[in-house]
Amino acid sequence: MTYDAIIIGAGYAGLTAAAALKESGKNIKVLEARDRVGGRVYTKTLQNGSYVDLGGAWVGPGQDHFYKLIRETGNETFKTYEEGKSMMWFGDKVKAYKGLIPPLPIGPLLSLDFAIKKINKLSKTINLEKPWESPNAAEWDAMTLQTWMNRQMRFQKSRDLFKIAAEAIWAADPNEFSFLHALFYTKSGVSLDVLMNVGGGAQEERILGGAQQPALKIAERLMSEIKLNSAVNTIKQTEEMVTVSGNGFTYSAKKIIVALPPSMIGKIQFDPPLPANKQQLIQRMPMGTVTKTYAIYPKPFWREKGLNGLAATNNGYTTVTFDNSPKDGSKGILMGFVLANQAKAFANLSEPERKESILSSFVKMFGNEAANPEMYLDHSWAEEEYTGGCYAGLMTTGAWTSLGEALRKPCGNIHWAGTETATEWNGYIDGAIQSGERVAREVLG
Ligand SMILES: Cc1cc2nc3c(=O)[nH]c(=O)nc-3n(C[C@H](O)[C@H](O)[C@H](O)COP(=O)(O)OP(=O)(O)OC[C@H]3O[C@@H](n4cnc5c(N)ncnc54)[C@H](O)[C@@H]3O)c2cc1C
Repeated sequence: MTYDAIIIGAGYAGLTAAAALKESGKNIKVLEARDRVGGRVYTKTLQNGSYVDLGGAWVGPGQDHFYKLIRETGNETFKTYEEGKSMMWFGDKVKAYKGLIPPLPIGPLLSLDFAIKKINKLSKTINLEKPWESPNAAEWDAMTLQTWMNRQMRFQKSRDLFKIAAEAIWAADPNEFSFLHALFYTKSGVSLDVLMNVGGGAQEERILGGAQQPALKIAERLMSEIKLNSAVNTIKQTEEMVTVSGNGFTYSAKKIIVALPPSMIGKIQFDPPLPANKQQLIQRMPMGTVTKTYAIYPKPFWREKGLNGLAATNNGYTTVTFDNSPKDGSKGILMGFVLANQAKAFANLSEPERKESILSSFVKMFGNEAANPEMYLDHSWAEEEYTGGCYAGLMTTGAWTSLGEALRKPCGNIHWAGTETATEWNGYIDGAIQSGERVAREVLG
């Protein structure tokens, strides 16, 4: 039997494409390597009845694709808790502050503010469909975000705080990716302020029951079309059809949709081999590095002290924290991001060392009650065989301008989806959904 289309990967991109093609009456199959759907979005239910999102979690204004899907699948959102003061532990000073402006001396504060405004302004000039055609593309693609930060901000304090924010946005060190990519990503997610903020920003809301719920609902509709535990390892293309195989299975289709992170495409053997520029591009889109750490307490004790659970620090392994308690506050859940180079160093620690280091940071910022949670857990996405890092694949210097055209260009009957191929909310769940809709139109067209 030859399918109309086979979709490889049951993350939000693959599931969206599969649902759209099925609705159009196409005969499809979805092959997913893991024993679950959702990919980089994975909600873990805890023994105490609560839950945590180990991967993607938030949704915010402007993410219309994701909001539409949340509603269509009968799910609800709720506001991220942000009432009260945030914490900043910078050098040896721990301070609580209200609002969006961190307690920095006036010079570094103005320099930081100017840098954020400048990135927003420059990002407006980016061509989201073809970033390489943006004015100054060659100049911006020739430097990393760090190079630009060094030129732009003369105060070390401004650069340090900007770095914390950049690592939280990209889960990578600013020296790892192109400045053109930083501008593209900023515009694709509206602005740097929107990417950073809770209220009015990308962290504004969470999904009741967890961010995997909508994916599970689509999977229910697809039912027998999804085959789990089925990692594709070869794709063979002839004039008539494409054949995909893995351990113990072979299927053929007229069209193939590959909805994987770029670096995972490189693990598949293609016959004939992929065009040179596609092979080169996927080698220049490494994944970021992030571990989410969670401490679960009987109640959100920091709220009683007038704190909102948000913190930023340049000490220790976790540099940014959030209140991830359930909507009803029946448990207190603090989430600490361990990002970029901190995450690489964190990977070398034993579980007791990781727990000790995270809890001592939480104690420093939220008080002694943080020392004894009911439960601690962490999750490193770099250890995941079928993801290899997170949040997303990032363009290294020169990649957009020399190879960007290969990103979405179909290779015969092989089509490309995944959040990295999105023009809006690239790197986010919303972008994954947009890419799934776009690739379905491409295949139907
Ligand atoms: C810690 C973390 C926090 C994040 N926070 C947010 C957030 O708050 N909000 C937000 O919008 N986004 C967030 N993201 C990003 C978001 O999760 C991703 O952008 C999105 O889920 C990507 O979806 P996708 O379908 O493109 O790819 P994926 O979810 O990676 O799906 C690809 C699928 O392909 C499968 N696969 C891989 N190789 C093979 C193979 N050979 N054969 C078959 N199947 C294969 C994988 O198992 C996976 O299921 C976060 C990500 C992480 C990890």
